[in-house]
Amino acid sequence: MEVFKFGGASVKDAPSVKNVVAVLNHTGAEDKVVVVSAMGKMTNAFEVVVASYLEKNRIPKEQLSAIKNFHLEIASQLFEDSANVIYQKIDDLIAELINFLEHNKSTQYDFVYDQIVCYGELLSSVILSEYFSLSALDHTWLDARKLLRTDSTYRDATINWPETQEKILAKVRPGKVYLTQGFIGADANNFTTTLGREGSDYTAAIFAYCLNAEKVTIWKDVPGVLNADPRVFRNTTLLNQISYEEAIELAFYGASVIHPKTLQPLQRKEIPLFVKSFIDPKGNGTAVSKGQTLIPAIPCFIVKKNQVLISLSSLDFSFMVEENISEIFRLFHLYQMKVDLIQNSAISFAVCVDNKFNNLEKLILHLKARFKVDYIEGVSLYTIRHFDEAALEALEKDKEVLLKQVMQNTVQLVTRA
Ligand code: ASP
Repeated sequence: MEVFKFGGASVKDAPSVKNVVAVLNHTGAEDKVVVVSAMGKMTNAFEVVVASYLEKNRIPKEQLSAIKNFHLEIASQLFEDSANVIYQKIDDLIAELINFLEHNKSTQYDFVYDQIVCYGELLSSVILSEYFSLSALDHTWLDARKLLRTDSTYRDATINWPETQEKILAKVRPGKVYLTQGFIGADANNFTTTLGREGSDYTAAIFAYCLNAEKVTIWKDVPGVLNADPRVFRNTTLLNQISYEEAIELAFYGASVIHPKTLQPLQRKEIPLFVKSFIDPKGNGTAVSKGQTLIPAIPCFIVKKNQVLISLSSLDFSFMVEENISEIFRLFHLYQMKVDLIQNSAISFAVCVDNKFNNLEKLILHLKARFKVDYIEGVSLYTIRHFDEAALEALEKDKEVLLKQVMQNTVQLVTRA
């Protein structure tokens, strides 16, 4: 069995839905679990629905009808017959969502978020399912919430592995094609949960793990994993092979192409992961598997923009040692700062953090009670894995380097934007 994952960009409009069928025809449409994301940027659109519903305490009718029209428009380009059952299915899903919004009493953001945002994946999967049927692609549509059983940590649910495996094995038979949603699951009370943004890759890995799949393929709009983000760097190179460990390292430093959570279940069973282009399915793409660290062995560049560089020193010239550092980390944890890099000397401590949850002001105020604090917002953090002198020189050129850290095969630079 193989697991395929098609993300938002690969199902963003009618031609891309048709392309999914073309990819399946190319690879052979049997013995597959196909996991799909919400179409295009629909998860963001549903996030706006959640915000207005909770802030204004009313049903955001205009936003909902824009979402409905987006899906109807795609359907109208796929299904000429206006009596096709898809129109009823889209209507039913939107009506079900409105019914939830009308009856819901909870103001708990994370819970409400999951009950709403899941409709992106549900709508996408029913449209694909009807289009598979129209294309005579024999398959079974599965509601992922009946299979992926989780705890009740809304927006970041943890999988109950034994129960999930049992449910998946009871439903999925070898040889057949299944179509299901990424990103969503359900808790013990059957409320919908989600696995965190970009969670569909993780869904694919969960199915693969439970089914002992032969491999997972993530279909993307790039030829595979590149040695740098083409939106930031020129002259990127396709990586043919990456080990699980290297892929986890790259993801840790901020390479957004594969979510680190996805790799863990695959690594445990040594199931290879392929990242391939849905535009060019014949291309080899990138294989993430056991084996060589990186082929070709070239430097990989990762950038994280909009970070904060904080420099701390003790007010009384006492050393920055365990006691101070543990207090600093307690505060980072308290204010949900993700620490990217640290460097310390006898009396000073520099740290580059990601201010994801907008708690910087509160953190600085707290730190100032004990330390002398300087900070620069909007800095960039560059990481080069497997660097050489030429790569480092090219990166440093024309940049104001505020901090540099060189490790065995990784170099990190904090630069003014
Ligand atoms: N639709 C979800 C998101 O945009 C999950 C995914 O696509 O992986 O984050």
